[in-house]
Order: sequence, then C-alpha cells, then structure tokens
Amino acid sequence: MREINGATRILGLLGDPVEHTGSPAIHNFIAERMGDDIIYVPFRVRSKHLEEAVAGAYALNVLGLNVTVPHKVGVMQHVTELDDAALDIGAVNTLVRVRGGFKGYNTDFSGFMRELDSVDIQVNGKDVIVLGAGGAAKAVMYALKKLGAGNIYILNRNVEKAGASFGNIKNAKVLGFSSWNEIPKGKYVGIQCTSVGLAPNDAECVINDDGFFDLIDEAVDLIYKPKETVFMKRVKERGGRVYNGLRMLMYQAVSSYEFFTGREVPEEIVEELYRELDT
Ligand code: NDP
Repeated sequence: MREINGATRILGLLGDPVEHTGSPAIHNFIAERMGDDIIYVPFRVRSKHLEEAVAGAYALNVLGLNVTVPHKVGVMQHVTELDDAALDIGAVNTLVRVRGGFKGYNTDFSGFMRELDSVDIQVNGKDVIVLGAGGAAKAVMYALKKLGAGNIYILNRNVEKAGASFGNIKNAKVLGFSSWNEIPKGKYVGIQCTSVGLAPNDAECVINDDGFFDLIDEAVDLIYKPKETVFMKRVKERGGRVYNGLRMLMYQAVSSYEFFTGREVPEEIVEELYRELDT
C-alpha cells in the first residue's frame, strides 16, 4: 500500500466542481512511475474562497497546484509571479511554489504544442482554421503564434466576442460559422476548440456543410470524450488525418508536473500514461 508520511509532498487541483476530474489519476500515476514521494488531491474551492485557498495552500507547504474551471482567470490576482505566456493568454492553470507564494503558468498552450509535435502536425507557415474563441482557443492561438502559423481563420458563434479577443492579430480573421465559405480554397489545419460535440451531446458539430470539411486535411479536436467527435469523423471521411484532445490533456499535466518538480518526465512514462488514458 502507498505510504504517506511526514516527507510526502502535496500537489492539488483548485476547481469547482472537481468531482469528475482526471488530474489526480494522471499526476499520481506520474509520481508513482517517477518514484516521487508526492500525492495529488482535488480541492473544491468556491470563487469567494479562492484567495484564501491559494494563501492557505502556501501556508500548508503545498508544492504546487493546478487550476481549473472557474478559477483560471481569477487566480491570476493571487499569484506572486506570472509567466509571460500565462499573462499573454490571460489564464493560469498551474501554480508553482516560489519564495513568498506561487508563480502562475499556463500549460494548456504547451500541452497543445506537445500534442501537435507528437502527432507530427506542422503549423509553421501553414494556414489554420480555429473553431471557437473561448479559453482553450486563447491557449491554441498563443501556440499558433509561437509556432509561426500562416493565415488563421477563427470561426465563432459570438463573432463580437471573438473579435474582441483576436481581432487585432494581423494574420487572423474572425468570422461567424455561416461565413465559412469566405475562407479561400486550400488545405488547412483545423483546430476544434468549441465545447460542441462533447459527450453526452456527441452527435453535434458547429458546422455540417461538406464543403467546409474539404478545406481541412489535418485536424485536432480538443474534445477527448467521445474519442471521435462528429468533427473528427467528417474530416476523416474526406481523407484527413485527425486526433482528439487526449494528448493535449496529458501533456498539459506532464508539463505541470515538470514545473512542480523541476524534472523532465521521460518519454517512456509519457507513452505508458497515454496507453492508460486511452483505454
Ligand atoms: P469556453 O467556455 O471558454 O468556450 C466555449 C467555446 O465553445 C466558445 O467558443 C463558445 O462560443 C463555443 N460554444 C459553446 N456552446 C456553443 C454552441 N451551442 N454553439 C456554438 N458554439 C458554442 O470553454 P473552453 O474554451 O475552456 O473549452 C472548450 C472545449 O475544449 C471544451 O470541450 C473542453 O473540454 C475542451 N478543452 C480541452 C482541453 C484538453 O486538454 N484537451 C483543454 C481545455 C479545453 P461563444 O464564444 O459564442 O459562446
């Protein structure tokens, strides 16, 4: 049986709700395989208690925390340091213990970049279509900028909101879903960042026109439940290469763990973890 003693370090997740989170399973798996005396636990924290929770975690000598819905933006006010990428994206999902408090990082963007790398989707100089403009799309857009993507077409239900977030990016254009045919003919990498298609509503997709799917030859849907969304099926039917968001989820956790401990998680542990998660 796993022994917890006075030397065991604590990692945790701040969110509300946290009942269905997969993060403890992922981090405890990594800690066990790495031989680290670390335990990861979920903490349900109401928004009104967020500041106290962060201060309390520091006082309790907690090594690091992940942050999930609804605190990814609010927690930025309670960190002592902020990584540049997290500041640019406007969201923090990882708190790393530093002198006097926690430093906020965003590993959603790096998780997404590591997924692209692992499935060999190259976006450097390539044109991209992004569906959605929420928090996940912001991390994706940051990654696309860092990777040197070509022209980016962002399609969203609320065009005004998408324009406010991405309207000032010079190689990006914001459109409504029904205006997809304004996108010039060509082959694009498609990144599905809306929550449409997520189980139990897995018969849904934000766009259903065949012509739209002719534009995409490689795609990632950030959703990982179901394993294959309608968006993925439609791209695949037309000969495209598709992946779900499971690798992104896994790599954001791996990147967080690496920040927490300052050590790289070896590729064989990552591969074993992926096989576990993909069952
Ligand atoms: P947000 O709530 O911030 O954004 C939701 C997005 O979905 C917005 O673009 C929103 O459009 C759109 N949307 C929601 N409902 C509808 C609808 N009925 N019709 C059309 N568009 C709709 O969520 P996140 O950005 O945080 O997450 C989005 C998805 O990405 C989720 O499914 C989440 O599970 C997944 N995700 C996966 C990760 C991974 O590691 N694989 C990491 C993070 C997220 P509008 O702006 O118009 O409201």
